[in-house]
Amino acid sequence: MISRRAALTAAGAGLVALGTGAVLATRDKPEPAGPASTDNAGRTVWRNWSGIQYCYPQQRLAPTSEGEIAQALKSAPGPVRVVGAGHSFTALATTAGTMMSLDQMAGIIGWDGDQAIVRAGTRLGDLGPALAAKGRAMANLPDINKQSLGGALGTGTHGTGKALKAIHGDVTALTLVTPRGEVIACSADQEPEVFNAARVSLGALGVISQATLRTTANRRLHRHVWVEPIEQTFAEAEARWDKHRNFEFYAFPFTDMTANITHDETDLAATIGGHSEDDSVLELMRIMRNLLGFSTPLRKAAAKALISTSRPEDVVDEGWKLLSTDRPIRFNEMEFHLPAENQLAALKAVIAAIERERPDIFFPIEARRIAGDDAWLSPFQGAGRGSIAVHCYYKDEFAFLYDLIQPILLQHGGRPHWGKLHNLQGAQLAALYPNWKDFLAVRQRLDPEGRMLNPYLKGLFNV
Ligand SMILES: Cc1cc2nc3c(=O)[nH]c(=O)nc-3n(C[C@H](O)[C@H](O)[C@H](O)COP(=O)(O)OP(=O)(O)OC[C@H]3O[C@@H](n4cnc5c(N)ncnc54)[C@H](O)[C@@H]3O)c2cc1C
Repeated sequence: MISRRAALTAAGAGLVALGTGAVLATRDKPEPAGPASTDNAGRTVWRNWSGIQYCYPQQRLAPTSEGEIAQALKSAPGPVRVVGAGHSFTALATTAGTMMSLDQMAGIIGWDGDQAIVRAGTRLGDLGPALAAKGRAMANLPDINKQSLGGALGTGTHGTGKALKAIHGDVTALTLVTPRGEVIACSADQEPEVFNAARVSLGALGVISQATLRTTANRRLHRHVWVEPIEQTFAEAEARWDKHRNFEFYAFPFTDMTANITHDETDLAATIGGHSEDDSVLELMRIMRNLLGFSTPLRKAAAKALISTSRPEDVVDEGWKLLSTDRPIRFNEMEFHLPAENQLAALKAVIAAIERERPDIFFPIEARRIAGDDAWLSPFQGAGRGSIAVHCYYKDEFAFLYDLIQPILLQHGGRPHWGKLHNLQGAQLAALYPNWKDFLAVRQRLDPEGRMLNPYLKGLFNV
């Protein structure tokens, strides 16, 4: 978010001023205890990216064709869960039965005009250069590009941009292999109910083998990153979402400052190097927490001084190279999508709650905007929404997300990101989605025996 050099320069000055306690403050907590690498039956553990979800699948499969997927769905030990890159924070992919990966089913397999037909195991990071080779690009990208296409669709994965939809919003057709072994091609005209249910379906309806994606011309984007006082961001955020192709900001608790990022199309030549990295700033925020967590006013003063010395950053490159970056520091995360008009009020309440009750939190809170779509379980179903994402260092306790943050986001009309932490189930979710029952009816029709249902999904769907 903020250039490493600028942050380190500022940090050097800041830490010298803060004295010798800084050395102690750089010490990190020990690794959290993890699961055994194998279980009693000798099965190898699977863990998600952040490490909090794990399971010991009886069988792991990597099919190479729809026929192989269909065979496994019918006969492999259940529950059958398909996994992408394992980047979801919730227990969506866990199973004691069969874990299926589509890593062997990747790549672009055809074109329908400017729409790319993409196998669902394709990683977003591989899709960028493959589309660019044809002068095309995905309209938008999430913060990282490690996800598989199937996984991104599975949870409603999105980037930021008021006029830009989540990834599933650009899907015009897809092929679903159902637990009974049927292969269903669906779109708005063909099997529309399956299409409405399957575009965001948590891997609960079967396995998506391929999807047809709208693409855009592969344009260069200009990224501008700058830091400012939070009052200014609150005053101008709405206008920035209107004005810029992509706008998002990160609010740093205990600083009253934000880092702001815009991306806009440009004909300027690509710049060399200088791509953003967020690890240095996060590391500094962690040190501030360790050093000054006992005094919010002191911490605010120090962190504010440190952040505000970072210089603006300007980078130009093709969009697929800029929109996603790396996240080298692991975290757990909750993200809710709120009616746009409630987003800033909810964010203020979240920051106030963290500053009041959780001095250990140092990750910034991310605010984005996403255009609406009509997939039944899309958090953006019906209208565009504003998202608020609260991150928590992977070594820190994260139960506060449920107890302190989730109630605020719910009060403001939020729907949870399916791949990120929340503890809503059954009736609570049904109240948030007008087509919840329609989705459950399609699920029941396609998977009457519940072959795809692990305990987590059973809780969500109340079955
Ligand atoms: C560091 C980090 C950054 C992130 N940034 C963003 C972001 O900017 N925006 C955002 O919206 N989210 C973000 N996420 C969340 C992430 O995009 C989602 O959790 C996404 O689902 C992960 O994709 P995956 O390939 O890892 O899928 P997994 O987590 O492996 O699976 C997700 C779901 O999709 C299902 N699934 C996978 N493949 C298929 C298939 N072929 N057919 C049917 N179902 C399938 C699985 O069964 C599961 O239910 C981030 C996560 C991390 C860890």
